[in-house]
Amino acid sequence: MDTISLENRTRSAALFEEAKNYFPGGVNSPVRAFKSVYGPPLFIKEGQGCRITDEDDHTYIDFCCSWGPLILGHNNAKVRDLVTETVAKGTSFGTPTRLGNELGKLIVNNNRYIDKIRFVSSGTEAVMSALRLARGITGKSKVIKFEGCYHGHVDSLLVKAGSGLATFGESTSAGIPRAFAEETIVLPLDDRKLLEETLQKYSDDIACIIVEPVPANNGLLLQDPSFLECLRLKCYKYGVLLIFDEVISGFRVGFEGAAGYYGIQPDIITYGKIIGGGMPVGAYGGSHEVMSHISPDGPVYQAGTLSANPVAMAAGYAALKQLLEPGFYEGLEAKTKRLADRLQAFALRHDLPMHVQQIASIFWLAFTRDRVVRADQIDAASMEHFKNLHRELLRRGVYLGPSGYEVGFVSAAHTEQDLDEAASIMEKCLHMVFKT
Ligand code: PMP
Repeated sequence: MDTISLENRTRSAALFEEAKNYFPGGVNSPVRAFKSVYGPPLFIKEGQGCRITDEDDHTYIDFCCSWGPLILGHNNAKVRDLVTETVAKGTSFGTPTRLGNELGKLIVNNNRYIDKIRFVSSGTEAVMSALRLARGITGKSKVIKFEGCYHGHVDSLLVKAGSGLATFGESTSAGIPRAFAEETIVLPLDDRKLLEETLQKYSDDIACIIVEPVPANNGLLLQDPSFLECLRLKCYKYGVLLIFDEVISGFRVGFEGAAGYYGIQPDIITYGKIIGGGMPVGAYGGSHEVMSHISPDGPVYQAGTLSANPVAMAAGYAALKQLLEPGFYEGLEAKTKRLADRLQAFALRHDLPMHVQQIASIFWLAFTRDRVVRADQIDAASMEHFKNLHRELLRRGVYLGPSGYEVGFVSAAHTEQDLDEAASIMEKCLHMVFKT
């Protein structure tokens, strides 16, 4: 096939130069700036099914899928139709709407892990509200999070471990008061001993443990389910609430998310991405009792001008309805596994240092020979391989998120044929990166 020279991305390049006049770094979310890979970011003008087209009219098979929301692919007809019909009647009223009820009902009636839900407008907002709720219920303020899990740009969660084990966090962004970072204890994933010691020492101050049950923001750090069960049991033991941050895994690994996948009942679950069908929606949910603490029923205040906006509710409803069709998740998982298995077999055949990590329709190429379960097992130097791979893939029409720490998403719109085409290109590019 003809390759797309990076130098041919002239319109994207020009638009990026222009964007730098308006936006810090030319972007409205940092990873979009392509800092960790080659070339200017692609300016995308259209998406159809599993393909996106940039301003230079190059088309790519897309495995970023807007960072996860588009489980049905781009421009899904049923989502588009209901959104168009809804927009024609007005875009926002700041009142309850029937569509909000429809989406709320669809979710709580098909999810055994929450009784009530509150819609917000982003994943960050969902997490921020969930923390407040946990603090409001327990009257305690500290939070345990895990190295390698991302929970949005919430002040007290933009932290990494301080020096020494189980120390209070150090912020990873300027502008975060030390006192906020010190409310967070950062632990490594998969370390039960340290978890127990930390809870023994600090549980009187700890409101909650927050975890991505499918950690998918620092590679795909799939956990042994027994670690997640251990979190659940320890939280009961020490009077601490367990928050599953399912902004990625919610409606992705199954309609009931990771809670359903692993059969574990957290106290609060946060959602984002898929729940809005490509529109800005986040949410958090829990039992009747837990959610009774939220205003106006309870004392924990949380509000939003555009919360449960009807257009976003329409998109979410039209999308989630399709996920409930029999066999939806099984089909998607089978396709993704076939892709992952093929790439893994290729790596073994050619003796490449690559381990393909996959769950449901999420995959990640780890440039190591073994399974990776903790952030510190990722070799930062291997990201150079990703950078080269990303460039070669872009030249041949395959789009992965522009960082080696980002996972890939397969959508229902990727056919077996699309995936075979992508796999052939990926194999060729892997060979170029590692063998030439
Ligand atoms: N939690 C998790 C697990 C996420 O993956 C993300 C976003 N990648 C967020 C929270 C924040 O969501 P948003 O970007 O919508 O604010």
